[in-house]
Amino acid sequence: MDLLEFQGKQFFATYGIPVSDGEACTDVDTAVAVADRVGYPVVVKAQVHTGGRGKAGGVKLAENAEECREHATNILGLDIKGHIVQTIWVENASDIAEEYYASFTLDRSAKQYLGMLSAEGGVEIETVAEENPDAIAKIHVDPAVGLSEEACRAWVDAANLNPQATEGAVDILMKLYTAYVEGDADLVEINPLILKPTGEVHALDAKVSLDANATFRHEDYAQYDATQPRDEREQAAHEKGLQYVGLDGSVGVIANGAGLAMSTLDVVNQVGGSPANFLDIGGGANADVMAGALEVINNDPNVKSIFINIFGGITRGEEVANGIIEAMQRVSIDSPIVIRLDGTNADEGRAILEPNLNDKLMMEPTMLEAARKAVELAS
Ligand code: GDP
Ligand code: MN
Repeated sequence: MDLLEFQGKQFFATYGIPVSDGEACTDVDTAVAVADRVGYPVVVKAQVHTGGRGKAGGVKLAENAEECREHATNILGLDIKGHIVQTIWVENASDIAEEYYASFTLDRSAKQYLGMLSAEGGVEIETVAEENPDAIAKIHVDPAVGLSEEACRAWVDAANLNPQATEGAVDILMKLYTAYVEGDADLVEINPLILKPTGEVHALDAKVSLDANATFRHEDYAQYDATQPRDEREQAAHEKGLQYVGLDGSVGVIANGAGLAMSTLDVVNQVGGSPANFLDIGGGANADVMAGALEVINNDPNVKSIFINIFGGITRGEEVANGIIEAMQRVSIDSPIVIRLDGTNADEGRAILEPNLNDKLMMEPTMLEAARKAVELAS
């Protein structure tokens, strides 16, 4: 779950990380009222689920109410990389002496957390990594051991920040680490982390991604789920309780089990096609679930063929076959369907499907042959 900047700042604030006083709003008058309260100058910032807002005109400094009104008017409704701005965040502006970069994320190959800190902040970290990789100080943290203040201090020293920033940076990074771990985050990033002329260190931006699987541990995370950007297909699938991820190909995929669903995408690619989606209907394959899955896929205008790949385990072949036939009677499907049915009682299942086969409903004996057929039909 990706948080908007203001949600990220509220998340940071609960862990004691210093952020600027501000408020989110959705109209110009409220923006001016917030600015009057927090005090000028203010920064008016677009709240969208994408970076590089500054460059796109989505971050503006206002010295007075008139400028605040002007910027709020321009930023609300602005299109930033396809994201229309509906919410803005107005905060008291900070004086900046230096801009740094700080983050924690997971390094899967090292099986450890990875902290990155750079004296070159305010620009995209990918650019720094490419042009001046030595400017990024990295620290690997063993989750079982945690981050000691001593290790954190050595990391800050290695980043060559202004010595004035050392204490403030150590303090914020220790808190950022706690937020990352206790908050069940996948990513916490502050860019820029600033040193003020007065010597304080402060988070001026917030990029936070939380692990959606951990929401059961955090009651308040429901509010973040509500503002998640989802494409229409994903929204529809989500409402039906389906495990669906939209992709941009033309072969609609339905499989039972996440592993088989991923393999199915691989096989479709392997034979020269491209999947329109990942969809795992789980262990069962009854008519309700199958009808829901077919409906979601059928509503995707890019889909030209549908590949149903089921391996019966606890769910028996005849249940799957009956589920598919019943589902097809409920939903009218535009694209041809290719079925591969294997596993427990596959023969019984195939026998049920056999009399229903036609040029809109086909069956192939193996996963590879079914993938070939589906791809051929899609092209
Ligand atoms: P991003 O472009 O989406 O990453 O948005 P940021 O929140 O990082 O803002 C972009 C840039 O705007 C920062 O790197 C700063 O240079 C500038 N900026 C943001 N807030 C302030 C502020 O309070 N004071 C000043 N002087 N500059 C700011
Ligand atoms: Mn930023």
